[in-house]
Amino acid sequence: MSAANKYSDFCLFLQEMKEKLLGKSPEELKTVAQAAGLPAFAAKQIAEWMYVKRAKSFAEMTNISKSGREKLAELYELGVSAPVGIAQSSDGTKKYLFQVEISPLASLGRNDNDKYIESVMIPDEDRKTLCVSSQAGCKMGCKFCMTGRQGFHGNLEPADILNQFISIDESAVLTNAVFMGMGEPLDNTDNVLRAIEVLTAPWGFAWSPKRVTLSTIGVLPSLRRYLDESRCHLAISIHNPFQDERLELMPVQKAWPVAEVIRMLKDYDWTAQRRVSFEYTMFAGWNDDRRHADALARLLRDIECRVNLIRFHRIPDFPYECASPRAMEAFRDRLNSLGVTCTIRASRGEDILAACGMLAGKHNK
Ligand code: SF4
Repeated sequence: MSAANKYSDFCLFLQEMKEKLLGKSPEELKTVAQAAGLPAFAAKQIAEWMYVKRAKSFAEMTNISKSGREKLAELYELGVSAPVGIAQSSDGTKKYLFQVEISPLASLGRNDNDKYIESVMIPDEDRKTLCVSSQAGCKMGCKFCMTGRQGFHGNLEPADILNQFISIDESAVLTNAVFMGMGEPLDNTDNVLRAIEVLTAPWGFAWSPKRVTLSTIGVLPSLRRYLDESRCHLAISIHNPFQDERLELMPVQKAWPVAEVIRMLKDYDWTAQRRVSFEYTMFAGWNDDRRHADALARLLRDIECRVNLIRFHRIPDFPYECASPRAMEAFRDRLNSLGVTCTIRASRGEDILAACGMLAGKHNK
């Protein structure tokens, strides 16, 4: 295909793309209502249908005139789409596969705009937690992660993020959310913060910020913004307290060394009450001995936090093994004895490739 043809295809695609309403605030929906010839108060009605009643189509919005609903459907997309696949683990965990349309702008000009993302619903007694994706693929390239291995395919829009909450079977009974699925959420900060705003706003899902945790490998410039602009919990994927060793598996260490991330957290003015935790995936012979536990305790001194130890789940063509249960327990006990609260996180959904580091949206090329 010639460059001119590619360009005209690209323009056609942009023209055909309808704006998605999921993710818009009631204030922004006033413009939408006006465009559809509806009174300004219809903005509030649309927001209520989307975020409170979780409508899946404009047709369901029965307190809006029929012609108004038709006009809305002509001009906009709601942004709700059903999962295209579901896998169920023997431990009750469920993995959902969604097809998302990535704008050519957001996918760095690639031509193939349909991508796949995965979300994981983890039941635990009366809790139902959704592990949410924020990007198709990821740029960060952590060597132990299947998502990182597939490269970056594009940022999810707020609608694509919120759709993961709306279109799963457990939508009405979800209790918590963790931004720990595919992608680095602080590499898509605007859209993730907007989704969090909808989740926690009184006009949105009205969740307490305490029900939401964002996990990052430490994208320093966006981290401060996240802390300033939300009141949700924070998890930092640390995995190794030694700078040079961390760099072996996590290229991000070069741009934003974890020591600087820790310094920033120590200097931060923690007026909002929130939980800070550190995720530590354990690899046999790489980060699982007393030397690492002691260094980690030193690094985290003076931060009120907890450490979650995570089993490493093997992925193809990566030589590391998970640390032994004994090594993990000894590591946990050592940290606890040094005054750092530490627990071993139960592994969930491994049989359906839904556990930490295993999400791949397997169709993405
Ligand atoms: Fe990206 Fe997170 Fe995987 Fe690293 S661990 S490559 S940040 S998805």
